Amino acid sequence: MLPVIALVGRPNVGKSTLFNRLTKSRDALVADYSGLTRDRKYGEGCLGDRDYIVIDTGGISGDEEGIDYKMAEQSLMAIEEADIVLFLVDGRAGLNPADEMIADHLRRSEKESYLIVNKTDGLDPDIAMSDFYCLGLSEPLPIAASHGRGVTQLVEYVLSEIPLREELDEDEERQRQKKIAIIGRPNVGKSTLVNRILGEDRVVVFDQAGTTRDSIYIPFERDGEPYTLIDTAGIRRRKNVTEAVEKFSIIKTLRAINDANVVVLVIDAREGVSDQDLHLLGYVLDAGRSLVIAINKWDGMTGEEKEEVREQLRRRLEFVSFARMHFISALHGSGVGNLFVSVDEAYGFAMTKWATNKLTRLLEDIVADHQPPMVNGNRIKLRYAHQGGSNPPIIVIHGNQTNSLPGSYKRYLENKFTKILGIKGTPLRFEFKSSA
Ligand code: GDP
Ligand code: GDP
Repeated sequence: MLPVIALVGRPNVGKSTLFNRLTKSRDALVADYSGLTRDRKYGEGCLGDRDYIVIDTGGISGDEEGIDYKMAEQSLMAIEEADIVLFLVDGRAGLNPADEMIADHLRRSEKESYLIVNKTDGLDPDIAMSDFYCLGLSEPLPIAASHGRGVTQLVEYVLSEIPLREELDEDEERQRQKKIAIIGRPNVGKSTLVNRILGEDRVVVFDQAGTTRDSIYIPFERDGEPYTLIDTAGIRRRKNVTEAVEKFSIIKTLRAINDANVVVLVIDAREGVSDQDLHLLGYVLDAGRSLVIAINKWDGMTGEEKEEVREQLRRRLEFVSFARMHFISALHGSGVGNLFVSVDEAYGFAMTKWATNKLTRLLEDIVADHQPPMVNGNRIKLRYAHQGGSNPPIIVIHGNQTNSLPGSYKRYLENKFTKILGIKGTPLRFEFKSSA
């Protein structure tokens, strides 16, 4: 599971600047969940060999009324959701009463927290930090977020107690278990779908301590095949769906996506595709997960309404055209069986292994059809291809000057490979290696 880092501090200390640094390799992920999680921003990032989730908060000013009150509340919630808290202070402005208030809160909470002195560029770090020892927290760590100075070391340091991803890697057997995450906004029908899939009385649910940020993992069988359902709505032993109000959490959703082989995104046909659905899709794409889209509540809609929704789906979901789409009614069960056909198909492609000679021959054909462009008088050469990983499948292409390969040509390669290999339900990833 990805560790979660929360950034807290009063306004203007440089939290957004640090957030952008920490997530810059994956800025597509940065999403504002206005309405759901006001003033909090979530992103995934990786620095060095560490992957993590970062939460940026609105800040705590110490003058908590009106809007400030909301921000403070959000910051406190972010602290609750995090594994590690980075408490930022401003090395130029020196100590501020709001800093003392936040420090006080952190000292009383059980969270692992670190004191980060930002804006130390052009300052003597020892002097910049001397102000903050009196906060009685950990040894202050100096950084300059806007210059990126100290940021990688910071991440390595604060995550050093958390095992590396390689060490966590499950064995082949567990990888091969089909894990399906059911995600979507509140009220789209996730719990109803989970109930429908499991069947009311066949539910074998082990009671886990349910926290807001963790999903429930439910093993089950379908047609003799073992699956694990990752239930972000957390139905557990609920007698009926209306019993519990879902606590929607982005962290929970992000982790479920990361841990799944196939993600089923549930969209409410009556609401249409919202911006939040698009954000969720952005997360799925970024994680490279297989995807099946379930348009739920398809029952009881008029022909005209259905046509309207179809039209909107065509327009707004074009960027995930690799995913199969199903029109279902979780309530009545229609279409749910077919969902599994697509889940199995997507899983199959996510795990397929292609032989190097097959991929290389394919590359040669694709390149012969349409050559890469020239740079500085030399043609970019793509020589051979092999597979670099699964879930998502990664195709590594070796050649010369691949750094200069234009985006349009990469898209050409992606489209051709996807089409010729017949891949459905899973995005392909490419990596380029240059020997000159
Ligand atoms: P937030 O309100 O805590 O999110 O703070 P911002 O990230 O918006 O930063 C506030 C201001 O501090 C901006 O003008 C940043 O450019 C500036 N800033 C952030 N980090 C640094 C730094 O390391 N050095 C300096 N000199 N300025 C910084
Ligand atoms: P969740 O928050 O995503 O888990 O959504 P729920 O499963 O709790 O469903 C929210 C509401 O939508 C409930 O009142 C359900 O009965 C209703 N609902 C779920 N699926 C369907 C469906 O296929 N058709 C109709 N008409 N209502 C549905």
